[in-house]
Amino acid sequence: MTPIRSLRATAYTVPTDRPEADGTLAWDRTTVVVVQVTGGGQSGLGWTYGAAACAAVARAELAPVVIGRNAFDVPGAFQEMVRKVRDDGRAGVCGYAISAVETALWDLKARLLGVPLCALFGQAADGVRVYGSGGFTTYPHAVLAAQLGGWVHDQGISRVKLKIGEGRGTREERDLRRVWQARETVGDHAELYVDANGAYTSKQAIRMGRAMEEWDVRWFEEPVISDDIAGLRRVRDAVRADVAAGEYCCDLYTFRRLAGAVDCLQIDVTRCGGMLEWRRAAALAAARGLDVSGHFAPQLHLHVALATPNVRHLEWFHDHVRIESMFFDGFREPVEGVLRPDLSRPGLGLELREADVARFRTGGVDAAGD
Ligand SMILES: [Mg+2]
Repeated sequence: MTPIRSLRATAYTVPTDRPEADGTLAWDRTTVVVVQVTGGGQSGLGWTYGAAACAAVARAELAPVVIGRNAFDVPGAFQEMVRKVRDDGRAGVCGYAISAVETALWDLKARLLGVPLCALFGQAADGVRVYGSGGFTTYPHAVLAAQLGGWVHDQGISRVKLKIGEGRGTREERDLRRVWQARETVGDHAELYVDANGAYTSKQAIRMGRAMEEWDVRWFEEPVISDDIAGLRRVRDAVRADVAAGEYCCDLYTFRRLAGAVDCLQIDVTRCGGMLEWRRAAALAAARGLDVSGHFAPQLHLHVALATPNVRHLEWFHDHVRIESMFFDGFREPVEGVLRPDLSRPGLGLELREADVARFRTGGVDAAGD
């Protein structure tokens, strides 16, 4: 047995490069909570994008049940963490903290075995497609065009997504104009995706979805709030685009409910509970004949996605690409829209640039264990 020796959780807050908004939220900074675990002379790395409170939960609630456990028994540690937060509620902060710790434990296990994480899970593909994601409602047209056009024409990423549903669904004309502008920018052959972040009512979403068929929109993400399963199903059954949701799912029960109402199930490894839950949710989708798509954090999704036969693509999300390229040595760039791992590096293949990112730290480092 190789015991887990320590757990460290640190919050960093990084300003965005411009003010950003989608249909239902505006922001100008992003907090990333990084977890580092050690055992057997190795360290593992995981993270989540959530409130700094995730770091406090990891240190106060999760570290006591993880430290001392066998580093090779990641599912056992996951189960103990889920049990520990029963009274606090798994959905949200606790689940995000569990996700960060669980992914760090998988990274540690793969490093102890000296293999890339995708090999530990069982590699099903040598690369995974990404889609460019940004197109915030706050962007002036020139910025939108430069971002979407850059992905398609300069980087060879032939799938891009923009935000719609501006002002909680109150600016339909501007939404449609921006979708038209996006199609003009990317040309006829790129796949065009939209994300309303739950801003529309179901009838409104159906009307907007049909209007956007003129520009061959292929993906309509969260046309209505994803808690409204019946509304999602109504939209899915009425529009040509694939309806997608799942980014807030925090356990298999919520994934199961959503899987009956979407065309593609989104899974976020930084929220759902981690890599075991990611693969179980993907299996649940496979049993319904559905693809899955990785939401957020492309560097953290790469290895688990490679071990998932029914993965469609990963989200090359502007904010997280920017943060992950600053934070991690070993950051991978897509080539012609396909992200591939460096199989010469164990685990996730990433190292935190602690000295470089210390200026973003918003919570004191606190280590449990040694
Ligand atoms: Mg979304």
